[in-house]
Amino acid sequence: MDLDKTAYHKVEFPRIVLAGGRVIDNMRDELKGLGLKKVGILTSKTPYNMLREKISRSLSGANISHEYEIDDYSPHEVLSQRFLVKFSGKIDAVVAVGGGRVIDVSKLVAEKGNISFISVPTVPSHDGIASPIVSIPSAKGRTSRFSVTPQAIFVDVTVLANVPHKYIASGFGDVIAKYTAVRDWRLAHLLLGEYYGEYTANQSKTCAEMVMKKSEEIGEATKDGVRTLTEALVNCGLLIGIAGTSRPCSGSEHLFAHALDAVANFPALHGEEVGLGTMMMTYLHDADWQGIREGLMNARAPVTAKQIGVSEGNLIKALTATASMRPDRYTILGEKGLNEKAAISLAKATQVI
Ligand SMILES: [Zn+2]
Repeated sequence: MDLDKTAYHKVEFPRIVLAGGRVIDNMRDELKGLGLKKVGILTSKTPYNMLREKISRSLSGANISHEYEIDDYSPHEVLSQRFLVKFSGKIDAVVAVGGGRVIDVSKLVAEKGNISFISVPTVPSHDGIASPIVSIPSAKGRTSRFSVTPQAIFVDVTVLANVPHKYIASGFGDVIAKYTAVRDWRLAHLLLGEYYGEYTANQSKTCAEMVMKKSEEIGEATKDGVRTLTEALVNCGLLIGIAGTSRPCSGSEHLFAHALDAVANFPALHGEEVGLGTMMMTYLHDADWQGIREGLMNARAPVTAKQIGVSEGNLIKALTATASMRPDRYTILGEKGLNEKAAISLAKATQVI
């Protein structure tokens, strides 16, 4: 490698990652070490009702005063602005206790308010729980970009194993996506000379292999299965911070999910859509798409358009729009992507329709 031609990039890590059983009960000492005086907690109704007491006990035990704000489902920008006005100048950090939406809005709050972000995920549905990427839904689907790295991540497997199964299935889909993300990344490197980090690419692939090995346990939502899944999700998030790009975790399968959100108005959970995309993009890479399908089925994740409530027409529309979702991201789809005939062939060959 010619180092002169390799651009440098910044690596950012969280200070603390605490993952395992009963983390929320035991995070007091770690919180103490963060030097926080007052935090604002963004959460939604269910986690607020279930976890408020434990969260408050840990924060009070660490001498951190705190106040809650409940998600009212207003657009990301609106909610983040309201949160900032309410807590303006009064808090050192925003603590996200919730799912993807709460975590994304909290990243915006931390970014705009120049304060720390602490991630306490309550569902294992995607790798945003540890990544510096913020994902904002819009009429055009979803836009993702770099935002803030969490200062600390508290992942309580006891909580994450006891959620409706679709969230676990979604997390599985978001991790196996790394098989195609890494293949697309390598292709962009070989064909267009894009920066490629072999270390992060291999680590990312390992995350996918680990959850694939445990697909049945993940399907049964055993503690061990969910633990492997959450560790993989956290690792993937960290890998984005190391690589300085979302490339190790996001390729054509993610572009497909973005296209599906745009065409069918967010029909399913992010990772459920990404899982379907992974299966189809694996077929295009001429790799073991049946293995991906089997893994998804073991994890009790959807493998057909019908299972995520998407019509055949919309699925094909999304496939033909996939390559144009992000023209700067070169993938197996090339610049123009699939025409309708090719999209139908692909969806039929992989039994998605
Ligand atoms: Zn994802």
